[in-house]
Amino acid sequence: MKKIVVMSGKGGVGKSTVAANLAFTLSKKGYRTGLLDCDIHGPSIPKLLGLEDVRGVDSKEGKLKPVEVDGVKVFSMGFMLPSRDTPVVWRGPVKHKFIQEALQNVDWGELDYLVIDLPPGTGDEVISIVQVAKPEGAVIVTTPQSVALEDVRKAVNFSIHVGVPVIGVIENMSGMLCPHCGKPIEVFGAGGGKKLAEEMAVPFAGSIPLDTTIFRSGEDGKPFVRTDSPSAEIFEKIVDELLE
Ligand code: ADP
Repeated sequence: MKKIVVMSGKGGVGKSTVAANLAFTLSKKGYRTGLLDCDIHGPSIPKLLGLEDVRGVDSKEGKLKPVEVDGVKVFSMGFMLPSRDTPVVWRGPVKHKFIQEALQNVDWGELDYLVIDLPPGTGDEVISIVQVAKPEGAVIVTTPQSVALEDVRKAVNFSIHVGVPVIGVIENMSGMLCPHCGKPIEVFGAGGGKKLAEEMAVPFAGSIPLDTTIFRSGEDGKPFVRTDSPSAEIFEKIVDELLE
């Protein structure tokens, strides 16, 4: 089983959207795929996949059982939390133990790929997860703004420091097509992710536009690659780049 972590320098750049859709694209391509949401403080995978009411875990012989969605096995730290409105106020060691439990005890069965959605940034929890999971590769998601790009530099350096190769940088929310005239509008600029990847000598996997069908599918709890979103084809090409 190959483990791929999806990271971002900061929150809100579309990391979870990329992680979920990466898992569903791998599954579409015929790979046995799992998706693990490791964000204790803000697990968004349940919302993006319509699993917000899954609570408690179906354990089998001491193992945690993932929920299967369209052939993808999904487990979120959110399933183990008391309620979706309860904030996590644990200190570091408790969180580390919780992370270890979720990483080591989920009954994935046979998998080709496990996509891990990390918390944003490069803090303690991300270090714990990477140390326990020992992933084979990292995908870094950014938006074109310079602040996000500075943070992504940190994320790339973090991956190098912990010895996880960056398999691709993805620039999300990279321009949008004007619904009236069809011409591209570069809302937050564009091209910065590619430039940064070149500068840091890591592969650039591609850009995803700001697209209302992506936002809508997230709200509806459906991965956009499973809808007729015009961005689905763009994303499939990005995944091909990542797998190269
Ligand atoms: P993160 O995991 O980085 O915090 P999310 O994946 O949760 O970010 O995305 C934040 C919000 O932005 C969600 O509402 C999501 O549906 C939306 N979103 C993400 N990428 C796009 C995009 N390319 N176009 C439109 N909306 C997007």
